[in-house]
Parts: sequence; structure tokens; C-alpha cells
Amino acid sequence: MLHMSTRRRVVSIGIDLGGTELKIVAIGDDGELLSRRRVSTDATSPRQVLIERIATLVAEIRAEISATSPETMVVAVGLAVPGVIDAPSGHVEFTVALAEDWNGFAAVAALKAALSLPAVLINDAQAATFGELTDGGGRGYRDFVCVTVGTGIGGGLVLGGRLYAGSRGMSGVLGHTTVLPDGPLCACGNRGCLEMVASGAAITRAAKTRLTGDIGASSCSDSYTPRTVAEAAIAGDAVAQEIYAETGRYLGVALGNVVCTLNPQAIVVGGGVSQAGELLLAPMREEIVRRTSVFSVERGGVDILLSPLGSDAGAIGAARWAAKQRQGATAT
Ligand SMILES: [Zn+2]
Repeated sequence: MLHMSTRRRVVSIGIDLGGTELKIVAIGDDGELLSRRRVSTDATSPRQVLIERIATLVAEIRAEISATSPETMVVAVGLAVPGVIDAPSGHVEFTVALAEDWNGFAAVAALKAALSLPAVLINDAQAATFGELTDGGGRGYRDFVCVTVGTGIGGGLVLGGRLYAGSRGMSGVLGHTTVLPDGPLCACGNRGCLEMVASGAAITRAAKTRLTGDIGASSCSDSYTPRTVAEAAIAGDAVAQEIYAETGRYLGVALGNVVCTLNPQAIVVGGGVSQAGELLLAPMREEIVRRTSVFSVERGGVDILLSPLGSDAGAIGAARWAAKQRQGATAT
């Protein structure tokens, strides 16, 4: 048996590499958030620039936590990226959110070399879902769906208490499920994808074409963002209210299909647009209930809740995923 005095606190680092922001957290194996960084990034930066940026930030975090808690030991790093990944080989297969040189990039090998730490790769939406399972709104549920509504729409599934990755690690791509058979053409090639009509980008587009007048800091249409449209709706603008009602309704259509397919206990809603709270959730909930009468409230229904982790879910999930992979590797 180990003596308490020999116990070193094990810490893992999670990195969420988004198109506009880089988020890094350090988490103890007890779940305590020890450090957190958030810096803006340019998605068009070559991969080497971003890897160097990450290495600098991780070194800062390691210095910071070893100064405050000398007994800590950083043991693993998880990198969440927006795109298709190949976890076993540690390659990013395909991404449209980052510079082109990320396609086919051996990201895990590069991170290991830059940080001298074991590293793992995970898709960003799945990282956020795993974060909700370990530390967020999914705690206590065995079966839940996570949906992140930001500029785009992502998602992930937890089934039987485990992250369900799918045959190619791409389950839960809710943003490209169809809600309008002949709807607008999506960058993916399909028509009427959920992301085309219910994402932050869709809210901004709708505002630019349908709203008139000054709702933001300036009077030009650049002031239309999901946040300013939400503020206008709360202030009583009927068009802005209708835009959020439609967004919630489309999300409800897509999630109603998911509820009928999987019969989950809960839906956890995250991402920047979810900060609109009930403005988004009320019409979404109403639509889900309307379209899932077989799972009526009397028959258990489905809990619908906001993510308590907000935009940290991906970085937290990446850190927890790295720790879990390390435990698995140690156990076998
Ligand atoms: Zn699509």
C-alpha cells in the first residue's frame, strides 16, 4: 500500500483548438481546475505556428502549477480539433476550420515532440461531450446527447455511460442532419442541414436580411451577432424574437429525431448561442415535446438542460480524455 506522503497529484492538460480561440486547462485527477488559458487564434495560421503557441502556453501552465503545488505531476495532454481525426494514428484527417496544412498532419507526434508528454487526439465536439460526462451537465446520466450551438453545430453521444464514438469516430454530427429537404446548400454538399438554419452563423445571416436598424454598438449590419440579436429579442424586437424562435424550432426538429432514435435521458445544450438561455431553449423544448409524443413526460420524457461548463467543455473533456487513455494504457 502506498503511503500518503508518496502520493503525487496527477494532472492532465486539455487543449481545445478552435478556429478563433485556443483554450487550455490543467485538471487534477480529483477534478480540480488548476489553471486555465484562453487566447485568440488565427485559423489560417500554419500548423507549426499553432504548435509552438501551444508549447509556450503549456510550459507556462506547468511552471505556474509546479510553483503553487510542487507535488503535482503533469502526465498527459489531450488535443481537441474541429474536424475528422484518426485517433489510433494520431493524425488529423480533414478539417475546414484550420489551415490546410492540418489535413493529414501527425498532430500527436508533433505534440509529443514539442511537449515531451504523452498526447492524444479527439474531435472537439466529442471532447465537449466527454467534458459534460465527467464534469458538466451529463453527470449522473448514463445516456445523453450533447449539442453545441456556436458558429456551427456539433454534437456527441454518451450511451451506457461511455462516449460513443461511432465506427469512424464521427458520431453525433448533428449539424449536418437534414431538417429542410430542399433547404439551402451547405458547405458539406447536402441541402437543408441543421447548421444552415439554426447555428450562430444562420442567426447572423437571418438578422442581416430581416432586421433593420441599429441593434448593436454601431448602426452597420456588422453589429448583428447571435448575442446582439438575443439582446434585441429580450428588448422586445419582434423580428429578433422570431429568429430565435425559428432557431429553437429547427433544433427541436433535429433533436426530436435523436430522441426517437436513442431514447436518451437528457440533452445537454452548450456552445456560445446557448447563452441566450430560455430564448433558445423554450421553443426548442416545445418542439421536442411536440415531436416526441411516444416519449411523453408521463413516460419519462427527456431532461433538457444548459451546459454548466460553457465554452470550457472541450478543453476540460480533452484533459479528462487524455487522463482516461493514460489509465487504460497503464492498466493493460
Ligand atoms: Zn451540411
